[in-house]
Amino acid sequence: MLSWLVSWCGVALAAAAPLQVCALHPLMADLAHQVGGDRVRVFDLVGEGGNPHRFEPRPADLKQMQSSALVLAAGKNLEPYLDRLRSTLGGVTIIEVGRTIPSLTVGKDAVYTCCPSHGTGSLDPHWWHGIDNTRRAARVVEQAFAEKDPAGKDIYAANAAAYGQRLDALKKWTRAELGKIPRDQRKLVTAHNAFAYFAKEFGFDVIAVAGLNKEQNTTPQEQAKTIESVKQSGVRAVFPEKGAGTKSVQAIASAASVRLASPLISDGNGSGQNAGFEAMIRHNVNTITAALATP
Ligand SMILES: [Zn+2]
Ligand SMILES: [Zn+2]
Repeated sequence: MLSWLVSWCGVALAAAAPLQVCALHPLMADLAHQVGGDRVRVFDLVGEGGNPHRFEPRPADLKQMQSSALVLAAGKNLEPYLDRLRSTLGGVTIIEVGRTIPSLTVGKDAVYTCCPSHGTGSLDPHWWHGIDNTRRAARVVEQAFAEKDPAGKDIYAANAAAYGQRLDALKKWTRAELGKIPRDQRKLVTAHNAFAYFAKEFGFDVIAVAGLNKEQNTTPQEQAKTIESVKQSGVRAVFPEKGAGTKSVQAIASAASVRLASPLISDGNGSGQNAGFEAMIRHNVNTITAALATP
């Protein structure tokens, strides 16, 4: 009942919310909702279908950020424009939510990378695929909110704690589901090189191959090498990315005689009804298990 009231009276409640927050990544918007509840008004600037790797704030976004108390970025150089943004925004606090989370680096063997900013040897920005990482990030957001709105401190702490408990349950479920996959199949070949933190947390290997995403221009030799690596790895499936084309992955899958799995969500999935971190993890875990658990 309350949630209906909140959506019908959105305008009135929003006016009463003391804290206005902008997010530069859909999952940072989700974190802000989880920790802030009704006490914050969140603007998801990238939104559903947007690509946080490519996002550049438009004048309307800048205006929105200028009138906000806080801007949440993912950090780890996902947003290479942050320095510029900082000087444009002047006094507005920008929090790099993932800054204190232990970093992975994009490995030397990662022949396929994410985008021009995240090539071999750079920080791997995709920390939001770790459940532990997200738990930690919720505390970062909690502290940032409490600093800007000390009267809400206890509320933020309670929300973050409740969210932490849900994430514990999610982790248990994830372990149990992935446990259905035979050990020698715990390998991920994905179109977007976004799953290293997930793989590390749950004991998977990431198999690095080129040419699964259309942003790369691979030579026929590289493609042949990819097909060979996929065959050699013995994986049952390769994974396209939700929201991107499947043509190149499809071609590799059929040449290597493996399954084309359903797409994985890489960079968050907007802030619609089935969006958010928990929904993303459930979707990805179900997709991975369905593709790899059965011969
Ligand atoms: Zn990238
Ligand atoms: Zn990415």
